Amino acid sequence: MSFRRVAIIGLGLIGGSIGLALRDDGLGTVTTGYDADPAVRVRARARGLVDHVCDDPGEAVRGADLVILCVPVGAMRDAAAAIAADLSPHCVISDVGSSKRTITDALTDALPGFEIIPAHPVAGTEHSGPDAGFATLFNQRWCIITPPPGANPAKVAALVDFWESLGAMVETMDADHHDRVLAVTSHIPHLIAYTIVGTASDMETVTRSEVIKYSAGGFRDFTRIAASDPTMWRDVFLHNRDAVLEMLDTFLTDLALMREAIRAGDGQMMFDTFSRTRAIRRSIVALGQDDPRPDFGRSDHK
Ligand code: NAP
Repeated sequence: MSFRRVAIIGLGLIGGSIGLALRDDGLGTVTTGYDADPAVRVRARARGLVDHVCDDPGEAVRGADLVILCVPVGAMRDAAAAIAADLSPHCVISDVGSSKRTITDALTDALPGFEIIPAHPVAGTEHSGPDAGFATLFNQRWCIITPPPGANPAKVAALVDFWESLGAMVETMDADHHDRVLAVTSHIPHLIAYTIVGTASDMETVTRSEVIKYSAGGFRDFTRIAASDPTMWRDVFLHNRDAVLEMLDTFLTDLALMREAIRAGDGQMMFDTFSRTRAIRRSIVALGQDDPRPDFGRSDHK
């Protein structure tokens, strides 16, 4: 099976990118979309993010084979409740939220009896909104699908095909495992970036203009992550609380060890750790998950 009619709820960075990628897929997929913000709907129409931008969520999902919720994690339940009465019984409901356990539970509660197959494309930028999306966002990026126990295998396979047709590489795993993996690979790094940028801007012994002037020393790379959407990231930490706290404890233990190495002048410990981490960076580049250029090739996406 394949999805001929796809409805996208939430037309920001991720929803818009899915719509644009489908427009370019050459398969004739019909797309509809809805966003709660009327100004976003105006921009979505102007950019042609989907074939039909609807002013009502029910109208957007009527007749759809696949509905993808692309709203902030904390808005998933309300977005699902708003479409419940208009869904076709055969359709698959998916999402793109950055945490999976609480979303799976919320969607199952809001849409009892429907085929719910959550997903998370591990792709994004620090920009958000209807002007941020682009068709190639998912190219060569992973999309993690977290089918609940008992999910229909044919529908899971169709969702895998769907994401592969957008250029993504797909992995399936359990929702709880996803949340622990993403806590360490995405959520804690964002927390560190938000914290270090906040700490630097609060410092009284170093002026803000010095922080900005000398940012190429490392700070600049944190500021890109710390410019990410505040609503999205607030919701991620509220909804992936347990896994983030577990990984944060591990990180704080390692940070305390590093602090002790600096205090004790243990250069060997630092050298060994930094050598190990340099090797991780090289393997990420070797796997095509980042660019070796100093600006990570990001100037190409302007
Ligand atoms: P975004 O650009 O802010 O787009 C989300 C859109 O959904 C906004 O226009 C928002 O309107 C709208 N919305 C909020 N509540 C709604 C509702 N109940 N019904 C319909 N529309 C609603 O956010 P995004 O970056 O695309 O993120 C969307 C989802 O993707 C999030 O769950 C996030 O965790 C996940 N994700 C993000 C990234 C990333 O890097 N950004 C990567 C992977 C996954 P308002 O602005 O008016 O609220």
